[in-house]
Amino acid sequence: PGSGSDSAAMQTMAVRDGNGYRLNGTKRYITNSPSAKIGLIMARTSKEALAKNAHVSAFIVDMTTPGITIGKPDKKMGQSGAHIADVIMEDVHIPGSALVGGEEGRGFQIAMQSLDNGRLSVAGMGVGMGRRALDTAIRYATERKAFGEPIANFQLIQAMLADSEAELYAAECMIADACARADRGENIQRKAAAAKLFSSEACGRVVDRCVQVFGGAGYLAEYPAERFFRDARILRIYEGTSQIMQLQIAKSLLREFASEGAVW
Ligand SMILES: Cc1cc2nc3c(=O)[nH]c(=O)nc-3n(C[C@H](O)[C@H](O)[C@H](O)COP(=O)(O)OP(=O)(O)OC[C@H]3O[C@@H](n4cnc5c(N)ncnc54)[C@H](O)[C@@H]3O)c2cc1C
Repeated sequence: PGSGSDSAAMQTMAVRDGNGYRLNGTKRYITNSPSAKIGLIMARTSKEALAKNAHVSAFIVDMTTPGITIGKPDKKMGQSGAHIADVIMEDVHIPGSALVGGEEGRGFQIAMQSLDNGRLSVAGMGVGMGRRALDTAIRYATERKAFGEPIANFQLIQAMLADSEAELYAAECMIADACARADRGENIQRKAAAAKLFSSEACGRVVDRCVQVFGGAGYLAEYPAERFFRDARILRIYEGTSQIMQLQIAKSLLREFASEGAVW
């Protein structure tokens, strides 16, 4: 629970036990844990923090294994269709074959690779949610009348629609480029972080404009804009916060500059 953004500081331990391991620890805010049958669980196989986070290993775990308890689902701001809860592990015995990659210390590397995919997925969610919000805003703007005409005729409303379109198009291009690079086998860590950062922040602005186009109705639960606003907020937090994306992008740029003398 204490580690969060500093994921390598996790406290969950996997201690060798016969041919397998014994897991102890708690994971917080785990999406779909109330219904998950299988879990990918990161745990320390060394108490000491090792270079390149080699103290972290990854395990595939049957979530019905004795010793695993799922906490009460947390009440959230939005995304009411996705449930999160704590996963509490007390002396959970798992077989040696649960160790991903068959080797201790590869967990962080595996997590980072799956995070690239996860971050692109969240970037895609940003575009999807943003598109729905923009579509809803356009529809409302053509129907709602003020000063005797549809608000879509007002250029200040049009500016909000145009800015949203431009930002969503940019996010789509970033995601398409990062995916194409991944297909070519390139390391996309920086691109995935940049796409996640931009798309989630852009989505936040798009849903905010949707509320604004709706006016007072945008603030009421009766209309969809209010839900879009709440649902989109988490995109800037999970799979690494916007600040963690900024840190990773900058770290990667500085590392490349130090070794190459330029950054392309
Ligand atoms: C709905 C939901 C679903 C989730 N699903 C999952 C899941 O399925 N699996 C999973 O493992 N986790 C999941 N999480 C956890 C999520 O990934 C973390 O909440 C997130 O990474 C941030 O960690 P934290 O909450 O501990 O915040 P903290 O790490 O405490 O961060 C608090 C603030 O400090 C900032 N900050 C932290 N470190 C730095 C730094 N070095 N420099 C600058 N700013 C910094 C952060 O950006 C943030 O603004 C979920 C969370 C939520 C809310």
